[in-house]
Amino acid sequence: MNSLYIHIPFCIQKCLYCDFTSFANKEYLYSDYTNALIKELIQKAPLCHNEVIQTIFLGGGTPTILPICFLQKIMDTIFQYYTVSNNAEITIEANPGTLSSTVLSALYTMGFCRISIGLQSWQNELLQKLGRIHNRTTFLKNYDNARKAGFKNINIDIMFSLPEQTYSQWQQTLYSILYLQPEHISAYSLIIEEGTPFYHFYEQNKLLLPEEQTDRAMYHLTQELLAQYGYHQYEISNFCKQGYESRHNKVYWQTKQYLGFGLGAHSYYKNKRFHNTYNIQKYIQSKGNANLLTEDIEHLTTAQLQSEFMFMGLRMTKGISEYTFQKRFGVSIDSVYGKQLSLLTEQKLLQKKKQRYYLTNRGIDLSNTVFCAFI
Ligand code: SF4
Repeated sequence: MNSLYIHIPFCIQKCLYCDFTSFANKEYLYSDYTNALIKELIQKAPLCHNEVIQTIFLGGGTPTILPICFLQKIMDTIFQYYTVSNNAEITIEANPGTLSSTVLSALYTMGFCRISIGLQSWQNELLQKLGRIHNRTTFLKNYDNARKAGFKNINIDIMFSLPEQTYSQWQQTLYSILYLQPEHISAYSLIIEEGTPFYHFYEQNKLLLPEEQTDRAMYHLTQELLAQYGYHQYEISNFCKQGYESRHNKVYWQTKQYLGFGLGAHSYYKNKRFHNTYNIQKYIQSKGNANLLTEDIEHLTTAQLQSEFMFMGLRMTKGISEYTFQKRFGVSIDSVYGKQLSLLTEQKLLQKKKQRYYLTNRGIDLSNTVFCAFI
């Protein structure tokens, strides 16, 4: 178990498409929440005894909304109670509008070596429609400050298939961030999640989304342009310069173990999946006591583990290896999924090379169909 995820569930304002566990206007809880989180980190530390932590990800929400002294306390606790590798990948998620040069320098000094900035779109009018708090000038200032603070590994998050977004707006977003040369780019198609204001607008036919054909054209443009500019696609939605794949995200796709801390944080540990309570009062009151805050413990069967291995692993462009499957489960991949693999290969959704199966370009476009075959 070499990976830790830490959740900070606070944002300045809630974006209209967001269904993440995050709240606006809860400044009065920052201190209590940080104290509970620190207690949880301390109480769970024995689970990582004798382990060297290789990746840490502070996500949210907007972790950079917390006062620096609270973030410092969290990091100090991790370094005190866990053995962290000298070259660990330590990422913080950040949103433009929360990143002054003082904050960025402090983050870099406290050990973060990677920052993931949520730009989402280059056009201010689209940012406004999404309910984002920033505009592109703020983003550019923040990006520049991040470089000045010392960050040599920056991810930019962008989204396509936004309401009323045109192909050329997306093209402009891509060219604009390519000019900045971040080390990593995550490009996701907007998903309308139930319970969000966007879902409500969508149900009332008030959300003008690009057609499926435009969505695919935007995605293909992303693949082509980023490849042209030297970015390697290593996952359906993730691209990077040589050597900058997100080590933390690969832990999820390779179905390796990780521990989650904080409100609603998920963990995968010793073949069990579980998560912390989504109730913030309960989380704070439980003071890090796992017996009080852990919910929905699921012991995964071998069939579930094999299924996850397939549909998570196939998200990566290098796919899954027959050898790793055999080593992990003690049976051949063909004996479990032979029928599905040959059918999907026949349909040109999967390809096999050097004992590995991976999605074809057509398979990437129809990835949900492929994944369903293994569920
Ligand atoms: S900043 Fe991120 S986590 Fe916060 S509301 Fe917006 S999308 Fe959700």
